[in-house]
Amino acid sequence: MLEELKTNNRDWAAGKVAVDPGFFKRLEGQQAPKYLWIGCSDSRVPANEIVGLDPGELFVHRNVANLAPPQDANYLSVLQFSVEVLKVEHILVVGHYGCGGVAAAVDGKRRGLVDHWLHPIREVHTCHKHELESITDDRARADRLVELNVIRQVKNVVSDIFVQDAWARGQTLNVHGWVYSLANGLVTDLGVTVSGPDGVGKLP
Ligand code: ZN
Repeated sequence: MLEELKTNNRDWAAGKVAVDPGFFKRLEGQQAPKYLWIGCSDSRVPANEIVGLDPGELFVHRNVANLAPPQDANYLSVLQFSVEVLKVEHILVVGHYGCGGVAAAVDGKRRGLVDHWLHPIREVHTCHKHELESITDDRARADRLVELNVIRQVKNVVSDIFVQDAWARGQTLNVHGWVYSLANGLVTDLGVTVSGPDGVGKLP
C-alpha cells in the first residue's frame, strides 16, 4: 500500500541530503521560520512550493477557505505560537480564486458541519451584498468574494490580542492579504498589509 509515496519520500530525503548533508540534522535542532501562512486546505495550493520555501522556512496553518476565526482554538494556538515563540515577521493570509469553500458558503446547498464553519463567509457576503450583486459575471463575483474574505481574515488577525500585544512590545510583524491563482500559479498581493496598530482601522 502506498508504495509510490514511500518511494517518493525516500527519493526526496536523499535528494535533500545530496545537496546539503546537514539539512535534516539542522532542522531537527530548531525551526526558525520568518513566515506564517494561513491558507486553504485545497490540494492545489501547496504553501511551501508556491513561494519556493524549504522545510523550516514557513509555518503553515490550513483550513477550508483560509479562515482566521477569533474563537477557533486551532488557529489561535498556531497564531500565538508563531508570534510569541517563533517570532515570525510576516503573516500571509492566502486565499485562492476558484475556492470551493468560498463558493459553497453562498450556494444555498446544505452539506452539514462545514456550513457552520463557512458562516463567516456568508457574513462577508452580506456586508458587501451591494458590490457583489453589481458583478454580473458569476466567476468574477465569486473571485471578488474570495478577495473580500481574505481582507476580512486579515482584519481578524490584526485585531487579535496576540498580534496587538506583539506590536505593543515593539515586535516586527506584518500581516498581508494575498490571493493565489490556480490558473497560472501566481499570487496577487491585495495591498492590505498592516504593520502596526495604526493600520488596523485603515483596512477597506
Ligand atoms: Zn479553497
